[in-house]
Amino acid sequence: MCRHLGWLGRPRTLAELVLEPPSSLLVQSWAPRRQRYGTVNADGWGVGFFTPGRPGPARWRSARPLWGDASFASVAPVVSSGCVLAAVRSASAGMPVEESATAPFTDGRWLLSHNGRVDRAVLPPVRGGESTVDSALLAALVFARGLDALGDTVCEVAAADPAARLNLLAADGTRLLATTWGDTLSALVTADGIALASEPWDDDPRWTDVPDRHLVEATPDGLTTTPLT
Ligand code: GLN
Repeated sequence: MCRHLGWLGRPRTLAELVLEPPSSLLVQSWAPRRQRYGTVNADGWGVGFFTPGRPGPARWRSARPLWGDASFASVAPVVSSGCVLAAVRSASAGMPVEESATAPFTDGRWLLSHNGRVDRAVLPPVRGGESTVDSALLAALVFARGLDALGDTVCEVAAADPAARLNLLAADGTRLLATTWGDTLSALVTADGIALASEPWDDDPRWTDVPDRHLVEATPDGLTTTPLT
């Protein structure tokens, strides 16, 4: 994925999070402000979210550009969640463009998005990849290792492929986890909740930039950022 966002806090509609801000993911799908690799994110989009009383996330993904999806635009204002992960995709060279290659990926409990690329040949073989895209194989590895080992997994993969870019974002309904490794990530902490996003969706001065090669955890208690070494 080339631009992603996570929200943990008071329930918000998918439209409030993904469509309505002045530099929303929708706008980022054709005019990202901080993207270092690729220019538009037109190879698909996905939203996953958690709702009370339902174990595991619900997902809605598509291989088409977000800007052309009138059905999502119609439904998004009436779907609310307190834990959301969304992404728009710019497929890396040689990667399939199909719904199953589009984030968020899931193991039934966690949602995960990858902004970056990795040489698939260096990834240890694991079962359960949703697609042959590098991000899906990386997601399967992260799920297999467990999200508590996310930082270690990123460092291990980066050691095996020094050219890898590994900005990951994950959510399980109670917390968000993210890594920065080669691309941008910003955080917004408000009285309503915490947002993590590849780039700010508006010009609120409270957005802060997460330094490269860091692990970020957002819980209802706040945000922690630790270096990845
Ligand atoms: N490598 C991933 C893909 O092809 C992610 C691409 C990206 O972050 N732009 O989907």
